[in-house]
Amino acid sequence: GSDADWAAIRGDFPLLQRQVHGKPLIYFDSANTGQKPASVIEATDAFYRHHNANVSRAVHTLGTEATDAYEASRRKLANFLNVRADDLVLCSGTTFALNLVAYSWALPQLKAGDVILVSRMEHHANIVPWQLVAQRTGASVRVAEILPDGSLDLPALYAAMTGEVKLLAIAHVSNVLGTVNPVREICREARKRGVITVVDGSQAAPHRPVDVTAIGCDFYAITGHKMCGPTGTGALWARREHLQAMPPFIGGGEMIKEVSFEGTVFNDAPHKFEAGTPNIAGFVGLGAAVDYLQGVGMAAIEQRETELLAHATEELSRIPGLRLFGTAPEKAAVLSFLIEGAHSHDLATLLDLEGVAVRSGQHCAHPLLQYFGVTATCRASLAFYNTHQEIEQFVVALDKARRLLA
Ligand code: PMP
Repeated sequence: GSDADWAAIRGDFPLLQRQVHGKPLIYFDSANTGQKPASVIEATDAFYRHHNANVSRAVHTLGTEATDAYEASRRKLANFLNVRADDLVLCSGTTFALNLVAYSWALPQLKAGDVILVSRMEHHANIVPWQLVAQRTGASVRVAEILPDGSLDLPALYAAMTGEVKLLAIAHVSNVLGTVNPVREICREARKRGVITVVDGSQAAPHRPVDVTAIGCDFYAITGHKMCGPTGTGALWARREHLQAMPPFIGGGEMIKEVSFEGTVFNDAPHKFEAGTPNIAGFVGLGAAVDYLQGVGMAAIEQRETELLAHATEELSRIPGLRLFGTAPEKAAVLSFLIEGAHSHDLATLLDLEGVAVRSGQHCAHPLLQYFGVTATCRASLAFYNTHQEIEQFVVALDKARRLLA
């Protein structure tokens, strides 16, 4: 579609109308966090104005409304991912979701000699929890390497799934390279070998249709703030058998059936993993975000972003001395790059002066940057609300910065 076709959708995002340093904002940092449509902002606001109460504990009207709204969001999210709502644990985001798997599934299951397999392209949130669990159990973390184009070395990955490997933790889409991993095939291969699979869906769920049941993983983690929802919202989907077997991670109210000093009877999953007062308003907003994304259509979003990626890739290829990291055939709209002779922070600073927001740094993926032998990259990450015109303005600003720096 053209920018004109998407103008009304772009208009749903109030923040995109602001200026930065006197220039129209060009927000190319959606892999970091996404912008929010008015419907999400209004749903959160309306919750506090009209329905605010705690969930589950109150029989009064507001308490029922709050509980219903919170549970409605769980159902919306479950429908969005094609899973059962009862198998979806609501939590603060992917970092919490992956730690929940680490502490409730891996810590009790793993023993000395076991291996946790992760890929080279993981976000720190999908590395550090496994290292912490490995330290406590005597298990070790093994790395599945990537190829120079930023795709997974699949034969090497399958060869690395030896008998000691108990768990594979893998990104659906890389936040640095944009690589889309064939998680369905990977999970099938893992399952054949008895390896439990944890898929980090942070960068997939906002950008393409995701059918978790079809992927066939054991665990799937998402984060709300990257998919048009509020910060501090996210979810872990897990196979029922795991949810039933896993002990709770955080203890407190809401997650129990009965407490006495002789012992405590835990609530059923998913509530067993949702101790304390959740981010109720945030989840109301996330429910609105799911409605919004489904209204636009995930297939349409994927198509639009694929077109924006192709345009941006083509434009960047004309900039002298530009090195693009991540050129896998299956790719989301993330462009990590460096320009010879220019530091990425300087590029990002000059771009900011032109109103362009890109991220510069290590993107919480030190091992991946080490593979490429660099200490930082500039990352432009796009979403459906961006435009072809913004890409052209960005490239002009980038070329201006290059001429100043390189
Ligand atoms: N994994 C990936 C691939 C990510 O991009 C991010 C966010 N940068 C995370 C995990 C962490 O998610 P959260 O912000 O929910 O903690």
